[in-house]
Amino acid sequence: MQELPTTASEQRLQDNQLPQRWRGKSQFTIAAPRFGTGVDFLTTWQAWQADPQRCARLHFIAIEPHPLQPATLRELLANYAELQPLAAELIAHYPPLLDGFHRLTFAQGRLTLTLCFMAVPTALAELVARVDVWYSPEHLIPALEPWYALPAPSPVTHANVIGGGIAGCQIAHALAKRGWEVTLYERHTRLAMEASGNRAGVLIPKMTSEAGWGETFYRQAFWFAVQQIRQLQAAGQVIDWAQCGALQLAHEPREAARQQALRARELPADFIQILDQAEASAVAGIPLPSGASYFPQAGWLNPASWCTALVAQANIEVRTLTDASVLPVDGVTIIASGREADRFAASQFLPFMPVLGQTSVASASAFSEQLKTTLGHEGYLTPALAGQHIFGATFVRNKREPTLDAATDTVNHQQLAQYLPDFAASFGTVASSHAAIRMTTPDRYPVVGALPDVAFFQQAYAELRHGRANQPFPLAHYQPGVWIAAGFGSRGLTTSGLCAELLAALLTGEPLPVQATLYRHLHPARFLIRQLKRG
Ligand SMILES: Cc1cc2nc3c(=O)[nH]c(=O)nc-3n(C[C@H](O)[C@H](O)[C@H](O)COP(=O)(O)OP(=O)(O)OC[C@H]3O[C@@H](n4cnc5c(N)ncnc54)[C@H](O)[C@@H]3O)c2cc1C
Repeated sequence: MQELPTTASEQRLQDNQLPQRWRGKSQFTIAAPRFGTGVDFLTTWQAWQADPQRCARLHFIAIEPHPLQPATLRELLANYAELQPLAAELIAHYPPLLDGFHRLTFAQGRLTLTLCFMAVPTALAELVARVDVWYSPEHLIPALEPWYALPAPSPVTHANVIGGGIAGCQIAHALAKRGWEVTLYERHTRLAMEASGNRAGVLIPKMTSEAGWGETFYRQAFWFAVQQIRQLQAAGQVIDWAQCGALQLAHEPREAARQQALRARELPADFIQILDQAEASAVAGIPLPSGASYFPQAGWLNPASWCTALVAQANIEVRTLTDASVLPVDGVTIIASGREADRFAASQFLPFMPVLGQTSVASASAFSEQLKTTLGHEGYLTPALAGQHIFGATFVRNKREPTLDAATDTVNHQQLAQYLPDFAASFGTVASSHAAIRMTTPDRYPVVGALPDVAFFQQAYAELRHGRANQPFPLAHYQPGVWIAAGFGSRGLTTSGLCAELLAALLTGEPLPVQATLYRHLHPARFLIRQLKRG
């Protein structure tokens, strides 16, 4: 006798012939036009988990224009004893109530939940996904412009990743989590010896006065990175990470005005707080010259320890002391080579710009030891780490070779003294810490995805220069098997994880973790298209 469904969510599974339809598939995508309390999602997760023939990876996309407060969600889900402990796991990873997409991963990365906190029509315009089942009603996702058409997913599941900085390690991790075999090539003796070789960098989102796609990118990426670190630590990895909070000083009138605009937006306090001088000083543990924006979940991190944790998987082979100047021929190749990202024939058309940066190190004083958070002004400063502060950094354009320079430490020290004179004066010795090239781009955003076939683009989309964007155009052609994730500039620690998740989603044909607007703004063909439109 067939058991009757006990809840509307179980009925929904039956109506959509689940679990039968996902059986034997490598991946399956379900989209729901409402997230609500998450009971549909949790019931689906439970059924998937209980099914011995389940698809290898399940993607659940849920739209929610009015997301519940975490406390309300916790209270409502407490009524579903049968959905524990999955409900508890969902609550533990529930994102801040900020507009946009939020990518959550569960079940060692085999289950993804993409929460779209936005109105349904906006979410549909921003979704890039091939959906197998819509929990009713069914919706149509509009197509992308032909020049940004999705590349075909890779037919092979072996990747060669060139570069053992944070970008390359994030990609190796994202693909290995999906069952790929990854070979990671690094020319130095160890991982993270160039831009990612800083002793301590800051994980912090970059906020703008008004909400926009740029801010969304940094917010989403920050939150993704924090979740990832938490999951890696829970799995036993050791990462040198201190979630001590970060204060961004209102150190000049434009920043003060931005912070006032942010205050007016009434963003969630677990994400950002706008503090006056006294409040900021209390949080910092030292007197500050101004108010500040405060990110309680931000902090400092040692990138090399993160890189090591990311590649600690059996299906990642790290080949150090191996220069991969010539692209490997087997499998898919991903260029994640930092300052060398345009040294390949496949990528030399990209307009990367090198910027040299140096951080300094100072021995802490009894006074400076009291600093509890990281501090941002024009540059940044960490709390004392084993008796030393890391601070800086400089920006020198058009330098390709990193060199440590004692005069630059004076520049860093003087810059700090401008905003925190007593603090800077209390330091013991000041010395050079780390110098590296940040590879950036004309629009300051990284380049992530399949590399376009440049000759095809120039010929197929030549008419764009006459503003004829609405005529029929052929779909984009990409160079076979060559992908890129580079140009991370001065924010790569914060943004490379989400970018790797995007790259892995493109390679495997999964729903994208980011909005279509972001996908376009990170697309490796965007500079070509802008140039063609300008004529
Ligand atoms: C001084 C400074 C401070 C910073 N502070 C912060 C911060 O506080 N917060 C933040 O989010 N970001 C920060 N950044 C930015 C961040 O560090 C970078 O964006 C990020 O490290 C870039 O990572 P990547 O993997 O692209 O490059 P890299 O770390 O440079 O990695 C590229 C790797 O590729 C290898 N490689 C190159 N060519 C080859 C080849 N042919 N074969 C094999 N291997 C090759 C290189 O040896 C290198 O290890 C800072 C950067 C600098 C320089």
